[in-house]
Amino acid sequence: MVPVLDLEIGGGEFVTMAGPCSVETEFQLMATANHVRRAGARILRGGAFKPRSSPYSFQGHGLEGLKMLAHARQETGLAIVTEVMSEEDVPLVAEYADILQIGSRNMENYALLEAAARSGRPILLKRGMVATIADMLCSAQVVLDNGNPNIILCERGIRTFETALRNTFDVAAIALIKQVSHLPIIADPSHAAGASDLVPALARIAVAAGADGMIVEVHPNPENAWSDGEQSLDFAEFDELMESIEPLLALRGPAQCERKLARRGVAVGSRQAAGFRALEAVG
Ligand code: PEP
Ligand code: MN
Repeated sequence: MVPVLDLEIGGGEFVTMAGPCSVETEFQLMATANHVRRAGARILRGGAFKPRSSPYSFQGHGLEGLKMLAHARQETGLAIVTEVMSEEDVPLVAEYADILQIGSRNMENYALLEAAARSGRPILLKRGMVATIADMLCSAQVVLDNGNPNIILCERGIRTFETALRNTFDVAAIALIKQVSHLPIIADPSHAAGASDLVPALARIAVAAGADGMIVEVHPNPENAWSDGEQSLDFAEFDELMESIEPLLALRGPAQCERKLARRGVAVGSRQAAGFRALEAVG
């Protein structure tokens, strides 16, 4: 279980991280943070340092972006996850973020992993786009070896011969990790799909596979997003997604149900009783 502020990732509650690909403006970030919080997200995502495939693309606001994220946490209470791209930036990003994201392109950057691990912040380790499951676990081991047990793995799709989607969502990796590792694993249906209309289906598949949470890109106006607009959900689409995973979450068992009922103000007795009640509620 990875503690983050008042949350535990891998502790039974399915944790949703949501927010824009990149932090763009104060308005964009605050509107998104307020919306995703109301819809049930517990953690706000947003890139301040962006690893872009093209050097001509927006590279992120850096420190200004981190400050906007910290402001959003102050206003909403949401924890913050944001990417750190270089060893030198670790102290700065760790000052502002609750979780340090290691991006797909950096999964095997061991110097970065070591520095990030030593910051003491929980690490969201995204699977490299050409990394095997064993490669990902080796990278996690580097973080562990540097004194940091708080690692959240993330399946975000891999490159295969298939080109119809941005990446191939390796959902079996989620099921396998649940068997072979004690670490929590979340899904990133946004980067796996690359297209917003496929994100909800991939999210539901991830829930069914046993993911401990998900990280989803949401934007007030995806058409005008500065990065990854084609895969970002607008607010209504995010609401629909959150609703559509509920019955699947209820099927997963008591712990999830208990928390959900507690949030709705329903008094709960034993975990099991709560689970059964939630199952009854969804028929
Ligand atoms: C992101 O989360 O915006 C991102 C760049 O992800 P990845 O490293 O998985 O491509
Ligand atoms: Mn993105």
